[in-house]
Amino acid sequence: MIRVNNNFEELPAVYLFTQISRILAKYKEEKDALPLIRMDIGDIPGPLPSSVARAMHEAVEELTTQESFKGYGPEQGYAFLRNVIAEKDYGERNLPIDPSEIFISDGAKCDLGNLGDILAKDSTVAVMDPSYPAYVDDSVIDGRAGKLVGNKYSGITYLKCQSEKNFCPELPEERVDIIYICSPNNPTGSVLPYEELEKLVKYAKENKSLIIFDSAYEAYIRTPNLPKSIYEVSGAKEVAIEIRSFSKTGGFTGIRCGYTVVPKEIVGYYNDNTPITLNTLWNRRQTTKFNGASYISQKGAAALYTEEGRKEVREMTDRFLKNAGMLREMFEEAGWKVTGGVDSPYVWVGNPYGWTSYETFEKLLKECGVSTTPGSGFGEEGEGYIRLSGFNSLENTEKAIDRLRKILKQS
Ligand code: PLP
Repeated sequence: MIRVNNNFEELPAVYLFTQISRILAKYKEEKDALPLIRMDIGDIPGPLPSSVARAMHEAVEELTTQESFKGYGPEQGYAFLRNVIAEKDYGERNLPIDPSEIFISDGAKCDLGNLGDILAKDSTVAVMDPSYPAYVDDSVIDGRAGKLVGNKYSGITYLKCQSEKNFCPELPEERVDIIYICSPNNPTGSVLPYEELEKLVKYAKENKSLIIFDSAYEAYIRTPNLPKSIYEVSGAKEVAIEIRSFSKTGGFTGIRCGYTVVPKEIVGYYNDNTPITLNTLWNRRQTTKFNGASYISQKGAAALYTEEGRKEVREMTDRFLKNAGMLREMFEEAGWKVTGGVDSPYVWVGNPYGWTSYETFEKLLKECGVSTTPGSGFGEEGEGYIRLSGFNSLENTEKAIDRLRKILKQS
């Protein structure tokens, strides 16, 4: 008998975004369906920045001669990329992160799941509610979530994020071991201000907790003085791992590259109380289970830090912010509650009629042919909301707005 990981029994049968894709595939088969405009999408439409494309072409060329061929690379990532990240993402902001604390990944999603390998199996977990579903699903797969009771897992502490508090999380009432924080947040689009991060770091220090800080969307922050990194809070290096991605900033959703910062100051303990740094453990884990991100994608990622690359990142993120801003304005004009779309590519919208998330999702799909993501899929506190994204062409965004405007007027 093949015995399987029992924890999968506790997962919802399909991942949220897979479920939405299935509903949309069915919709497209309907006889009188309008051509679908996907405003639910978390993928970027491209195109790839030309600095990246050029660097990747050059990297491929290098591989074609014996002298410059690259086989297995360092599991932690090439020095050229780790160094430039340390210098530009952190050094320029006066945040002392050493290249040896930066681990190049094949994207944020993998590392979010993989980090569970180095933490005690019975660690307790807190997540923002609503939040990116991978945090909960990863915790379930690792056996940290307990049983599903209604919509919630018995072993997870849900940190309510409500509109009255700009979707900032409540601090856990009891002690938890691991806290997943996402800022700018997917799905609410809210960015945690400095004081909120300071509270979280203080909590983590007092309670000896670990913060896993997902800042996959930091490149969208435009408002001055909003923190882009948790390390802007003093002492955060003792309690926080930071995860970043080139997916939404450089068009890497398909290429795959990101990085994880594991500061040497974070110390964990074995059962016999022997201390060990998380940096040592993560390095050990990676050398066994990961053979490094591809040389080609790392060369492409490094190009994002050139003058031209930085300009292209700015242009790309500006483009999606503009779309998100237009969506935001339209819903605001119609009197719906909106957050995001300013320092985030996501727009988080609550309807004024008391419709559930799925009712709103279905109405906008059926009547406008516009797909959104039901907020309840991100957690109980997401009920009543939908998420739209700016990851689209301007043309599609304008088309969607035209269609939505008509029905928002009638509602
Ligand atoms: N973290 C958040 C908050 C996300 O929204 C996403 C993707 O949508 C990811 C991580 C995954 O990013 P990557 O493409 O680097 O795996």
